[in-house]
Amino acid sequence: MADKNIPYKIYLKEDEIPKQWYNVRADMKNKPAPLLNPATHEPMSFDDLRPVFCDELVKQELDETTPFIDIPEEIQSFYKMYRPAPLVRAYCLEEKLGTPAKIYYKFEGNNTSGSHKLNSAIAQAYYAKKQGLKGVTTETGAGQWGTALSMACSYFGLDCKVFMVKVSYEQKPFRREVMRTYGASVTPSPSETTNVGRKILEKFPGTTGSLGCAISEAVEVATSNDGYRYVLGSVLNQVLLHQSIIGLETKTAMDKYGIKPDIIIGCAGGGSNLGGLISPFMGEKLRGEQDYDFIAVEPASCPSFTRGKFAYDFCDTGMVCPLAKMYTLGSGFIPSANHAGGLRFHGMSSTLSQLYHDGYMRAVAVEQTSVFEAAQQFARIEGILPAPESSHAIKVAIDEALKCKETGEEKTILFGLTGTGYFDMVAYQKFNDGVMTDYIPTDEELQKGFDGLHTNFKLNALI
Ligand SMILES: *Cc1c(COP(=O)(O)O)cnc(C)c1O
Repeated sequence: MADKNIPYKIYLKEDEIPKQWYNVRADMKNKPAPLLNPATHEPMSFDDLRPVFCDELVKQELDETTPFIDIPEEIQSFYKMYRPAPLVRAYCLEEKLGTPAKIYYKFEGNNTSGSHKLNSAIAQAYYAKKQGLKGVTTETGAGQWGTALSMACSYFGLDCKVFMVKVSYEQKPFRREVMRTYGASVTPSPSETTNVGRKILEKFPGTTGSLGCAISEAVEVATSNDGYRYVLGSVLNQVLLHQSIIGLETKTAMDKYGIKPDIIIGCAGGGSNLGGLISPFMGEKLRGEQDYDFIAVEPASCPSFTRGKFAYDFCDTGMVCPLAKMYTLGSGFIPSANHAGGLRFHGMSSTLSQLYHDGYMRAVAVEQTSVFEAAQQFARIEGILPAPESSHAIKVAIDEALKCKETGEEKTILFGLTGTGYFDMVAYQKFNDGVMTDYIPTDEELQKGFDGLHTNFKLNALI
């Protein structure tokens, strides 16, 4: 039943829009483990990280005590182009499901990149510009991050070099053209243009690539060209910090109308949207002020949380990046080729990994055909054609709403609708043609990825 006092879509007013990001690490008793230097196994210092990342971003990466960090004016004005993002009550979906649950979603697809990634892209481009750099390099999988970064770079007049996972480069030519429209150069990865790319191609001829490979190439180009730094669209603490804008807006909107979510759901690739959405709510849970049921949803074909190991691992395949302690399938893990739904990174944010390890949140893995069923259902009922990644969260939101139907509980469910799926029509086509299949890796297959962790075995034995 519609609540007359609560708008169907909640937008914040100018003076309600957050002016600071929230750093959830400040409220964590067990801080995420530090990034380690792969050669010395010592924690990475500011000076170690400076050749790779922009100075201000390194500071943010290492800052685990400052709870609130000012959002620079320039970033706030860019945010105004597409924020605040609406918080929507999914009345139609509730009615169709016949559930007593109240379902809300925060919609981040209202910009050309089609996802939440622009929230961090603009911040990272801003700090690169402020440092006087010429440009940045990065990787992109499905293409949303590359698109967001090319938009942000063109706004600040920075050069943008994107390494795009080869399979996506071939399957998503339109995504590539959007990036080029914003002035980025796009190279399919692995490529012959870097040492690490050539090595990977030699070892795995004909590989369709992975995010881990593309990261290695982008880092190599950033560190071997003057005036360039590497930027990453997920996983890192700084990215979760920027994405806290999602949760802060949501919490402000909910508090304003006295709504308290019982369950908060987000899809989890590297953890940035989920981390951003839950941060301010998690802060309350960590401080013992409120309780929430946080659910990370991941693909059954790339199950970092539910079947991964909590260990130090490389973020990239070429093993050039620092080691992060996280839930991981091993940096050599490459999801099966039939996996179409994004969220294909082998690891997970170290902040979320620690929170998960400490029991502050739970995770579920879902199969892609059920994800696309949820996507189709949502598109037909709520009108928005969701990104496959976002549809993982939709799937579990629907499952939770149906549980409420059985028990009669009137729970309030909040989920992150991270983006739109217009560039994912090859995947939708497979689903519509009934040829989409599921793939769950066997324990033996996952073991191969874990065996790679033995490279750092001594280190992992110390944990
Ligand atoms: C990149 C992306 C994700 C997953 O990345 P996280 O860092 O886990 O948030 C989810 N949804 C969309 C639309 C994306 O573009």
